[in-house]
Amino acid sequence: MTVKLHNTLTGNIDNFKPLTDNEVTLYTCGPTVYDYPHIGNWVAYIYWDTLVRTLTANDYKVTRVMNITDVGHLVSDADDGEDKLEKGARREGKTAWEVAAFYTDYFLKGMDQLGLIKPQYITKATDYIDQQIDLVGRLKDKGYTYQIDDGIYFDTSKFATYADFAHLDLDEQKAGARVDYNPQKRHGSDFAVWKFTPIGEKRDMEWLSPSKILEGDQPKMGFPGWHIECSAMALSLLGNTIDIHTGGIDHIPVHHTNEIAQSEAATGVRFCNYWLHNNHLKVNGTKISKSLQNGYKLEELQAKGFSPLDFKMLVLQSHYRSEGNFTFDNLQSAKNRLHNWRNIAALRHQIHDTINHGDQDVSVYATSGAVVEALASDLNTPEALRIIDEAFTRIGNSNLDHIDRFPFVQLLETIDAVLGLQLVDSTPDISDEAKQIILERLSARSRKDWPQSDKLRDQLLEQGIVVRDTTNRTIWEYAN
Ligand code: AMP
Ligand code: ZN
Repeated sequence: MTVKLHNTLTGNIDNFKPLTDNEVTLYTCGPTVYDYPHIGNWVAYIYWDTLVRTLTANDYKVTRVMNITDVGHLVSDADDGEDKLEKGARREGKTAWEVAAFYTDYFLKGMDQLGLIKPQYITKATDYIDQQIDLVGRLKDKGYTYQIDDGIYFDTSKFATYADFAHLDLDEQKAGARVDYNPQKRHGSDFAVWKFTPIGEKRDMEWLSPSKILEGDQPKMGFPGWHIECSAMALSLLGNTIDIHTGGIDHIPVHHTNEIAQSEAATGVRFCNYWLHNNHLKVNGTKISKSLQNGYKLEELQAKGFSPLDFKMLVLQSHYRSEGNFTFDNLQSAKNRLHNWRNIAALRHQIHDTINHGDQDVSVYATSGAVVEALASDLNTPEALRIIDEAFTRIGNSNLDHIDRFPFVQLLETIDAVLGLQLVDSTPDISDEAKQIILERLSARSRKDWPQSDKLRDQLLEQGIVVRDTTNRTIWEYAN
């Protein structure tokens, strides 16, 4: 099936075709590890995980790099202000290295909790300093850089198509330039590829700036600019042209524009063929901000009784290109939806392996394909969820004797493969003892021994099991 993706580069929903047959190179801009990620930050990783799963379901072999920005991301994207890591270190009375190690570990645990597939390469910017220096050296040799007091900058006027990707109006940018912007910069849009440690200061993270990137021979300590990190890691691990690059919409005008400029200036070829950007998540219709304290952590949701997978369901309910809205009511409905899905998944323990009478519900066979097709259509997760709801409602309302176990389990496995909601793993069969109680209760009911039937029902409830009597059988479900 053709995978269609909205490509920021063309502004269209394009048919996806990788450079090499069925192999895909994918780069995801990863976290800056200076603080706890909030629910908004997680949105991107959930959607790009769905992208990987969708490509895999369409028989592509994905090689994916995700960076960990552990140095060089400044508080202001305009190349001034403090390094977020150094700021984090001051806040916590630790070194920048300790802060990076702590939040990297925290982030990776969060990925596990959300059931996100680990990229083959999770690369720390500080492990790729040589590659970044080499890239700066190549840009210098080609005449794209200039040096000023606080660092080495990319001269955006030398890259003719600089404004194209984000449709920037550079003249307007110049007119609106902030008064405090670095007056030594030749153009407002020029950006640092390498910054110098300010004179008289010592940073936790700094490296000797080698003479191949310097003008003049005064030795200086320095550190990479944020944008150069992603270019260097992508180029060195995935090659000069990659298939897909992902990030948040806020990355379009600066970070990704700069990645394109410096990568293409260095290699002379197109950096990436498909650029995908996720929209942002709001909370109660408002932007997430420190002052409003609405950037919840996963633990804060857990403390209120919501699992990371409940949150993942909430995210998947919106399309990645539309603005999501988080409210606790929405989270409660996502949780309910997942709970209902799990109870449907548990039906596989209660139906027969094969059906011989020829009147099985064949629609189950078609559902897997329809779900994958919805996702292949620019990752239409709301539509995929709707299709699953429809199929599950039909299954839940049908005579279970007509549901064939094999295609039903296959459907659950497909849903898990593409959405990662762990329906199969989270729905174990009940114990033999509980099954025995269900049988005893049925027998009590047939004797019209209601007190005994109620007693057994309560015993099951204590084990987290609810029984529901339908016209032709008793079904067990997980209690809320
Ligand atoms: P920050 O920690 O604020 O620098 O955010 C890191 C990245 O997380 C940003 O570049 C965005 O792409 C992403 N991000 C931040 N806030 C949100 C949000 N509310 N929704 C989706 N993504 C976000
Ligand atoms: Zn990046």
